[in-house]
Amino acid sequence: MTDEERKSLKEKIKGNIEALKEHIEVLEFSIQQLPANINDVDRETRQKMMVHKRDCEAQIRAGMKKLTQQEVALKRVDSDDYGICIECEKPIPMVKLELMPETLYCVQCHKL
Ligand SMILES: [Zn+2]
Repeated sequence: MTDEERKSLKEKIKGNIEALKEHIEVLEFSIQQLPANINDVDRETRQKMMVHKRDCEAQIRAGMKKLTQQEVALKRVDSDDYGICIECEKPIPMVKLELMPETLYCVQCHKL
């Protein structure tokens, strides 16, 4: 991997982290907007609210997981073994690293 490639990946990961943080904030805000007293609304609205809340919470959990992965990738990006498949020890293609900077495997080993 060239220094240029490493630099562009680093920017990419930082961008991912920002986007994920924003995404999580929006979801948290959306949950906060729900009325505090759930008994003030009718049954149907209440059910919709619960579904919405559960959906948001699930998305937040998934977002947090991705965020952690990106943060780990950002720490790893400067190390010599970054971008090397941990299975076959061949370089992981840039295209794959750009899509999934957190990946530890090349395309071939990922399928196994
Ligand atoms: Zn591999």
